Amino acid sequence: MRDDCIFCKIAAGQIPSATLYEDGNFRVILDLGPAARGHALILPKAHYADLSEIDDDTAGKVLPLAKKMVSAMTKALGCAGMNLVQNNGEAAGQTVRHFHMHIIPRYANGPKMVSWEPGELTETDKASIVEAVRAEL
Ligand code: 5GP
Ligand code: ZN
Repeated sequence: MRDDCIFCKIAAGQIPSATLYEDGNFRVILDLGPAARGHALILPKAHYADLSEIDDDTAGKVLPLAKKMVSAMTKALGCAGMNLVQNNGEAAGQTVRHFHMHIIPRYANGPKMVSWEPGELTETDKASIVEAVRAEL
């Protein structure tokens, strides 16, 4: 737990939050600036700045929890779909440096979001990216 981290304080219950779920490892809260009605955040109680720091055991618990939340929230909110978003690093839009996963309910005819203009995968890129990434695994 970091004294200078707002999500550590929220996860620990030191700062009040609209909590949807809590267990020994996680707290799931409503986002204060929701992209859509019911936008929630999965926060681990331990501090990890982002995915690169999270241990495999905790990481392995995030997706089952997301699945549980998506199921309950879909029934409770009547949404038509869900986006799971997890930003890593400032360049990727991460503003709070405590690992979190967004659960964003999507509604029929709702606003466009989490989308991009498709580029083109060139043959050169294809070969060089595959070679570079595979070399790091
Ligand atoms: P990021 O951009 O880092 O992926 O997402 C951070 C999210 O945390 C944003 O959606 C923002 O609205 C939310 N947020 C920031 N501060 C607080 C807070 O104090 N309480 C809650 N509930 N959400 C917060
Ligand atoms: Zn933290």
